[in-house]
Amino acid sequence: MLHAEGPLLTVDASERSAHETDCDDVLSTFIGGRGVGTKLAYDRIPFDADPFGEENRLFFVTGPLQASRTSFTGRTSCTGLSPLTGGLLSSNAGGFLSRNLAATGYAAVEFVGSSDEPVVIHVRDDGVEIEPVPELEGALVSEVTDYVRENHDLDAENVACIGPAGENRVRFASIMTSEHRTFGRGGLGAVLGSKNVKAITFDGDVDRTIELPDVARDVHREAATSDSVMKRQGTAGLTAFANEVGALPTRYFSELSFEGTDGIDGDRVEERKFKKGTCSQCAFACKLPTRDEETDLETEGPEYETVMAFGSNAGVDDVRSVMKSNELCDEFGLDAISCGDVVSAYLASEGRFGDSELVHETVERIAHREGIGDRLAEGIDRIHEELGVRNWTAKGMEFAAHDGRALNGQALAFATANRGADHLYGSMYVYEYPLVAPDAALDPEGFEGKPDRLVEKENHNALLDSGIVCRFSRDVVDERRLATLLDADYEQLLAVGARIVDLERRFNNERGFDRADDSLPYDLPGFEAALEEYYSVRGWADDGTVPPDRAGG
Ligand code: SF4
Repeated sequence: MLHAEGPLLTVDASERSAHETDCDDVLSTFIGGRGVGTKLAYDRIPFDADPFGEENRLFFVTGPLQASRTSFTGRTSCTGLSPLTGGLLSSNAGGFLSRNLAATGYAAVEFVGSSDEPVVIHVRDDGVEIEPVPELEGALVSEVTDYVRENHDLDAENVACIGPAGENRVRFASIMTSEHRTFGRGGLGAVLGSKNVKAITFDGDVDRTIELPDVARDVHREAATSDSVMKRQGTAGLTAFANEVGALPTRYFSELSFEGTDGIDGDRVEERKFKKGTCSQCAFACKLPTRDEETDLETEGPEYETVMAFGSNAGVDDVRSVMKSNELCDEFGLDAISCGDVVSAYLASEGRFGDSELVHETVERIAHREGIGDRLAEGIDRIHEELGVRNWTAKGMEFAAHDGRALNGQALAFATANRGADHLYGSMYVYEYPLVAPDAALDPEGFEGKPDRLVEKENHNALLDSGIVCRFSRDVVDERRLATLLDADYEQLLAVGARIVDLERRFNNERGFDRADDSLPYDLPGFEAALEEYYSVRGWADDGTVPPDRAGG
């Protein structure tokens, strides 16, 4: 089985020291990316750690394919204890960081401790430098990138950094790379902020190139020649379809379709796309550099999730407003899904849906924790009572789109996901929108046949995140090809995925998570029985915990 290569580098921000450790055992068992990050976190973060404490660790991990020339591999994984959910969480970002991390020669780089002043940590193939940067306090993501460009002859693709939101410990702050690409969900940016690390750079010349089978060439060719709508509209192309089937959260989840969809859908985004955008080595090129000629506003996206959170869910029907929200999130370093949902909750409490000016002002206040922004920065789970709105979260995380009330398998996926209400953990929506996976479609209503399918999907996704292979490869990289690329039997690989999900769950169980946390803010007939069936397929106890003898933890 192919796996990432290289040692683990530990950088202690308190001690200003660094050392290497052999981690071959972990690599050969957990492949790379999320798998390796999860196992290292399980072994090295105390179960009772404070997410903002020095003992929390952030693991940036590469995978076996990140130095190859294959499409869909331009991604880097990050794992840590989330200040939003209180559980273990992995997030991966696209862009161009992946090749630069691989070129340092390390399979994984972990950050622990906390600096007494803002620093940039430079990780190179010949050592680590910790640079005090008091002048970067409060800097936007583009300003951090400019600093690194001007002072270190590096580029956006070498940098992972936070904006003011991370510094201010906004619980849904993101880590940004390549300026617009995001380690988005769960607040890992706030963890980096709590360590007083404004940015990390990765740079080196270590050659990790590997020989891949012919299928890698086929994947690359098909990525280049595919006529997928994703290449024109990214995921924003889903907006109109989700609206039609009544799965588009609207006005803070009070409705499931939006009369203003025409103003924010994929066509409106595509009209403003002005050049191709991609990630390292990826010929699929689904990213969306956009520009609005009238306002001169430039950003990347919005993708479908941002269209939901800052568009329909905020009652906003103008794509330019959503573009601006998107750009503010990228510059301040905020997860656009959580931030948009939080702002929508605030609009609901104020009775001001559709007020774009208030939306943009509120995003800025959240990033700086000013006025009401200081409370909103805590996330909906902690402040919904103060606002007088319903708690639309699962495990403390704000919901992604693809509403579970219309797509019941996705509802189950939101409930069981170890990282919270995120669509990419179990992604059952791909079966329940028949357009997306016509050969494997499921009736969106009810739970028949879904717990089994969800377990397999979660395991498969854990595997992709460890490979690390982009989720948008699904029309090109099927199970057979994935197994060939990773030089293993597919069933063996799925077992690795299952071990990763088990380990995440066991870590969270140790922190007190159980069945009560696998819940939704709405009732669905048959949900509890489906949850029990899911536990049974996983081999977990009825209370949602993993038996201690499982998972190689
Ligand atoms: S498919 Fe899109 S998001 Fe995925 S690696 Fe390629 S360009 Fe990046």
